[in-house]
Amino acid sequence: VVATIFPIADLAAQIGGTYVHVTCLLPPGVSPHGFAPKPADVRPLRDAKAMFTIGMGIDGWAHRALAAAQRTDVPVIALAETASFKRALASAPAPMAVGTTDPDEHQGDHDHSEHMHGDGHFWLDPVLMQDLTRAMAEALARLDPAHDNVYRENADAYIVLLGKLHEDYARELAPYRGKTFVTFHEAFGCTAARYGLRAMAIHDAGAGGFGPAKIDRVLAEVRSGDARAIFAEPQFPRDRLEAIASRSGLKAGTLDPEGNPHVRGYDSYLNMMRSNLRELVAGLKE
Ligand SMILES: [Zn+2]
Repeated sequence: VVATIFPIADLAAQIGGTYVHVTCLLPPGVSPHGFAPKPADVRPLRDAKAMFTIGMGIDGWAHRALAAAQRTDVPVIALAETASFKRALASAPAPMAVGTTDPDEHQGDHDHSEHMHGDGHFWLDPVLMQDLTRAMAEALARLDPAHDNVYRENADAYIVLLGKLHEDYARELAPYRGKTFVTFHEAFGCTAARYGLRAMAIHDAGAGGFGPAKIDRVLAEVRSGDARAIFAEPQFPRDRLEAIASRSGLKAGTLDPEGNPHVRGYDSYLNMMRSNLRELVAGLKE
């Protein structure tokens, strides 16, 4: 099977175990937003039995990749668009609207199928990741019914680890309820909502870059004493962000929404999430 992004590739490998060979389509260190697959990138699709995506506009290029590989016959399973996940999402806490009071924010003619929206980064919420895990196990069981019990058992075991991850997030972030942190792009809204934090992003997808209005709001938030830290992301340049950090006096850290199989501490979903938790706590504490 092929997965669009590393967190989903890792999930497929965890649940598929020895019965599933997983390839990740998005190269390490590259943002999925606006990704345009090159011929070399789509080569793994030639032998693919299925393609796993998040859906909800995060990795809409999956379909273009299949067309480029002349494999439009490959079934695409968008985990976040499965019925079981949508039911789970209905009871998830909604991301708090922070710094999105600009009336021009959601206008413009940018591609709505691929614009950056916090809501789509469901895997960064350890609770919603448990629902994505169930969706993955159900999908693998349908693709390979002979091993459906293996996939369900692997999912049960992985969900225990995700439950532990959630407990650690909840305990370690509890002292910072209501606090604001600033990120590069709108990836951490689900994380913030789950643990009672507020996430602001400075990248303006509609403007195609840094929004000066957003940066002003970040600085206003800092002056009001609510924002504590600003986080770069490995998939984006950090120079502008460092400049804002030094102008504002915010602590600068790194949050990685994608992970990277070649970077220690980020080479699995769980390691990435634990590294992000350490960075969040380091940034939020006084
Ligand atoms: Zn994103």
